[in-house]
Order: sequence, then structure tokens, then C-alpha cells
Amino acid sequence: MTALNRLTMTEALTGLDRRDFTAVELTEAHIAAVESARPLNAFLVETPDQAREMAAASDARRAQGEAGLMDGLPIAIKDLFCTKGVATTAASKILQGFIPPYESTVTANLWQAGAVMLGKVNLDEFAMGSANVTSAYGPVINPWSPGPLGAWPRRLVPGGSSGGSAAAVAARCALGATGTDTGGSIRQPAGFCGLVGIKPTYGRCSRWGIVAFASSLDQAGPMTRTVADTALMLRAMAGYDPKDSTSVNRPVPDYQAALTGDIRGLRVGIPAEYRVDGMPAEIERLWDQGVAWLRDAGAEPVPVRLPHTQYALATYYIVAPAEASSNLARYDGVRFGLRVDGGSLSEMYENTRGSGFGAEVRRRILIGTYVLSHGYYDAYYLKAQKVRTRISEDFQAAFTACDVILTPTAPSTAFAIGEKMDDPIQMYLNDVFTVPASLAGLPGLSVPAGLGADGLPLGLQLIGRPFDEETLLRVAGVIESAAGITALPPFVA
Ligand code: GLN
Repeated sequence: MTALNRLTMTEALTGLDRRDFTAVELTEAHIAAVESARPLNAFLVETPDQAREMAAASDARRAQGEAGLMDGLPIAIKDLFCTKGVATTAASKILQGFIPPYESTVTANLWQAGAVMLGKVNLDEFAMGSANVTSAYGPVINPWSPGPLGAWPRRLVPGGSSGGSAAAVAARCALGATGTDTGGSIRQPAGFCGLVGIKPTYGRCSRWGIVAFASSLDQAGPMTRTVADTALMLRAMAGYDPKDSTSVNRPVPDYQAALTGDIRGLRVGIPAEYRVDGMPAEIERLWDQGVAWLRDAGAEPVPVRLPHTQYALATYYIVAPAEASSNLARYDGVRFGLRVDGGSLSEMYENTRGSGFGAEVRRRILIGTYVLSHGYYDAYYLKAQKVRTRISEDFQAAFTACDVILTPTAPSTAFAIGEKMDDPIQMYLNDVFTVPASLAGLPGLSVPAGLGADGLPLGLQLIGRPFDEETLLRVAGVIESAAGITALPPFVA
């Protein structure tokens, strides 16, 4: 690892502009880091040749004075984004051998901005999970795991589903990574790995070319080491896309300009309902600390009510599997990836789907099919849709009294691989603070705010009004400076 790996995106851009180093040098340092971080299992596909080519092209553009927003910055791509000519697996065996003939809009936007692709990173299978343990290609190890590389006494999860993205950025293999968030998959791994991550408003980033999990919830977003970097990368990723009918046609602001540090008079909502039973005292203290920092900076904390919060998890785990069961019907052995032959067409379907999908994906398909089936649709799916509306209305009411909401990101620090694995409900509880904003389509951001007694990162979550990512970023910047975290993951320390 060299000094180039320690730079933030903003610092790297300054260095590139000053000709302190080239994009090729910056990229070589990150390719080497990717190689030495292989024991973390963060990368599913490494694309060093492509990275070198892209970096050389970037240096040429900069020499012509034509550098884009992220020109020359090496990043990692969650393997849920289709990348033209580069294997895309969704961490599932069923997509084995699938090489997309097209590029997702978000990744196309990033390449347009000059970013350099280091490779595709691991995730929970089809983004279903909170610990990156459901990947068909093995778990990812959190670089915050104590002990020397490869000799970890406790191998910690990086969170999920964007676990490979989080590990790659925390391990200084990449300056940033794309994530996707359906119920918390950007925010919770950002929290577990000491990173900043934002799930933008539903419709802010195009979903075109992203393997679908739950279409009414899925959103792409950046994961980086600083708030300024998240602001930069979000600007490059976001934008209207006629190919995604749910993408919204609004101009993309200069998010970095929002980082003024001035939050005087801002009303910060504190929802009592997020003080859930059994929340560890250190999480409660961190939350109180966050409130105190914002008050010191001139904001005004106000209590708000989100009365339907207690139903959010149950609602999410009906709506998301229902949509997943429908989206995953396309993997039938005919059009994409794996095919396992059988004596008849239905036997081929059964064999393919039976061996291609892992246990968690099969569980979601079963739940989803059940809640959508005749006789249960009204009792489960329709009821969940009604509760979803109530949850959304709770937020609308709260945002008449406040401008932004502050909560913890997750109910714990990173746990060990193997924990919570035989009890799906325990695993689902990880999402208790993140799913409400997802159901309401609102932007949510996680920012590192402290360390737990175990020395592991803890994040605070900010939830905002639709398309008010700027306020989230501005407030996150204040928390980031107040927290002043300097601790590094043992992997890079
Ligand atoms: N952990 C949640 C789930 O398992 C959320 C996943 C996500 O946001 N993709 O569904």
C-alpha cells in the first residue's frame, strides 16, 4: 500500500490536476492493493487491463484540458450493475457465464465522468442479505476484523448487501464504489465499515441495467470514505434516464456546493419510535452525541413521531420478496446464465432454479409467491401496501416539523461471520432503522460517527425530504468534522 491509496477522491483529483502523479500511477497503486486484499474476497472479477486502458485515456484527456468530474479515479462496481463485456453475476450461480451486451446507465455515467473500473465486487446473492454471507462466491471479510491479514481470530462481516463495495473502499483498494440499497444495503455496510454511503431518493439514479431485486425500492448510490467524495460521486451517478420510467427528470445539483457547514436554524427530527427494545447503550449514547454535535452547530433538535415504524420491517419483508419473486421469474435456464438440463421443459426449469439459487433467495421466492397467491394476496400483500402508505404519511407529517431526521444506522457494530445465520429474523433485524426510508422512497445517508467499545465503526443515519440529498450531505459534513475519526481498519493501519 502506498501513499496514493490513502488519498480521498478530492485529494486525488487535486494531485492529478497538479501533475503530482498520473491516473496510471494512481490506478497501478490500486490494482496492487486489490491483489494484496484478495483474502478479503471483496472482488469477484478484477479488470486490471481495462483499468490501465481507462487510466491512460484519462491522462490523455487531462493533458488536453478535458478532464471530467471523476477523471482518473479508480473505483469498484457492485456486481449487480451490468457491465458490457464483463461478467455480471449478482453473486448468484444462476448468472454464471452471463456477460451483459450492455452497460447500466449509472456505470455509463461514471465512465462518462472519467472514472476507472478496477473490477466487480461481491454482494449478497441478488442483494438479499445484511452481511454478505449469502453470496454464492463466499463471504466477504470486513477489513476492520482484528488481527493480521489472513490470521483473523474473528472474521467480521462487512454488512450487506453491498459488502464487497464497503470492504474494497475501507481496505483502500478503491477510492469509492457503487452500491445499491433496497432496504439498507448501502447504509448498513457503510456503517459497519466506517464509510459514508447514501441511498438517494427513489428515482434519482437510473435503475436501468441494474439486476432487479425489488423494483419499487431499489436505488443505486455511492460509498466512499468522506462526505465530500460521496457528494462528488453522487453527482456523477445521478440523472434522468428515459430508459427507466421511474427515473425523475430533475436537474442534478452540485452536491459539493451544499457542504457549507452551515446548519444554523435547521430543525433535526428525533423519532422516539427508533429507540427500539434491546438497543445497546453505546448506540443510544452515539445518537445523543450526534444530537449534541448538531445543536452545538446551531441546529435545533425537535422530537418527531413516526408511529408506524414498528410495522416497517414486516411490511418490507412482504413487499420486497413479492417483487423479488416476480423479478426472479426470468431466470429459467433459457435466456441467461446457468442451465441444468432435464427430461422435460419443466424439469429443466426446476433443475436450473433448484441448483442456481441459494437458500436465502429460495426463501424469498417462496415468501413472495405465497403473499401474492390467491387467498393470501389481500391479507398480506395488499395490507403491506396500505401500511407502506401509512409509513410514507408518517414521514410527510414529520417533515412539516423538521428538515432532516437523525437516527442510528444499525442496531450494532459488525458481527462475526457465522453469527445470526441460522435465524433469518435476527438477520432481518439489522434493517430496522433503514427500511422505513426505503419504503417511503426517501433519501438516507450513513456517516461514521464513532467507534463501539469493540473498536468497530458506528454510523448515524440522516433521512431527508424527497430530492433533498443536499441537506443530508450538509448535515453529514458537520457530523463528520465533529466526530473527527482518525482510526484506520487494522487491515491498512
Ligand atoms: N438486508 C435487506 C434485505 O435483505 C436489504 C437488502 C438491500 O438493501 N438490498 O433485503
